[in-house]
Amino acid sequence: MTTIHLGLDDTDSDDGMCTTYLTTLIIENLINEGIRLIDYPNLIRLNPNIPWRTRGNAALCIRVEANNPKKVFQIAKKIMIENSESRNNKANSGLVMLCKNKVPVDIVKFAEKCINKEIKMEEMRKLVKNKDIEYFGQGTKRGLIGALASIGNTLENDHTYELIAYRKNGNGERGVSLQSVIKIDKEKKYSLFSNIDYNSHRVLITPHGKDPILFALRGNNPEHLYKAMSELKLYEDVERFAIFRSNQGTNQHLNDKLDVSSLRTYDSGHIIGKMVGKPVVIKGGHVFIKIKNRKKIINCAVYAPTISLKNLARNLKAGDEIELGGGISRKSKKFGRILNVEYIKIIKLTDRSIKKNPLCKKCNKSMKSIGKNKGYRCIKCGSKSNKIRKIESNNEIENKLYLPVLSAQRHLIKPVDRYGKEQRNKKKLKGNWFKIFE
Ligand SMILES: [Zn+2]
Repeated sequence: MTTIHLGLDDTDSDDGMCTTYLTTLIIENLINEGIRLIDYPNLIRLNPNIPWRTRGNAALCIRVEANNPKKVFQIAKKIMIENSESRNNKANSGLVMLCKNKVPVDIVKFAEKCINKEIKMEEMRKLVKNKDIEYFGQGTKRGLIGALASIGNTLENDHTYELIAYRKNGNGERGVSLQSVIKIDKEKKYSLFSNIDYNSHRVLITPHGKDPILFALRGNNPEHLYKAMSELKLYEDVERFAIFRSNQGTNQHLNDKLDVSSLRTYDSGHIIGKMVGKPVVIKGGHVFIKIKNRKKIINCAVYAPTISLKNLARNLKAGDEIELGGGISRKSKKFGRILNVEYIKIIKLTDRSIKKNPLCKKCNKSMKSIGKNKGYRCIKCGSKSNKIRKIESNNEIENKLYLPVLSAQRHLIKPVDRYGKEQRNKKKLKGNWFKIFE
């Protein structure tokens, strides 16, 4: 028996398909051949700051044990050719197969880079020359990058799960009861996350495009996800569902410290610094701030749709010590390189009290300054005082982590209530993780 890793990427377009669905088609065929998966199919989100990414920049990996790798590859290739949006020249699909028990270090390193850096086609091309690899690409073959990255990202550290259900013959708006989603979300018994944005009253488990997804539930436990699905009220038929293991909701792209001495376009990571100057609000409500780290000043942008994050950024003050997570944009003439902010963690706030002239105890009127360092005098009765009044400003910023509203969060960002719930033990593939309904 050989361990086989099958990576796939870039098979969908705005007009249809979804690489997760195509993955389940391959799984269906492999199972029919009696081939056994050794892990949940992996759903790997790649660096979200790369502009030419596919919709969510997700790549998929199926890991199996089989005797006949050639057959496995043939099945996967056939399904990709028949179903990928490359048929319509709307995708640049990639399929990579690695036949090796342990994923080689150089592929693991490549996968790490795909999470927070820009990758050149050349780097991928070198690696697929490996004797244990077979590959197939369509169009520009850019999908080979994600396909290889999904093989190398074996999710040894923190990970989550996603249950995706696909529609049988539904069209347009998804037939999922909003009330039933709210109910399972509020009960909190299934350790789910990122399902509803209560701020904008948006249900995030149902997509709006032409893809075959009916709904997708995210959580920390695969068995809980299955139970949660059975409590959802649906108005249309499910054709199949599958549970994926994923790096979504783990901050995997922001774990590395950004190197301020050599910021590179599309790098993702985090940075600690002190606020310099005042926040600047530009047209559209976007907020620009500057932070200083090791004598270097970095321009940072907090965009209007992040709402909660933007409101916080507007109230930051020079001297505030903060940690920012996000991605570096391409250089622009006006701003240079900018850090597009995905979270702000307050480390230490500067004094925000306001200084005012003392009040006269008799007249209850504000005293006037006599001159610099000479104290204050009441102009009505002549009383004097040296005591400045300090008024605590009505500032509600706390020393904590701030994220955008849910609907503006990236797939990879770690939700506040997942902090402390990180999981490093892989669960064995078992129970109800994949089913096709008659
Ligand atoms: Zn007075």
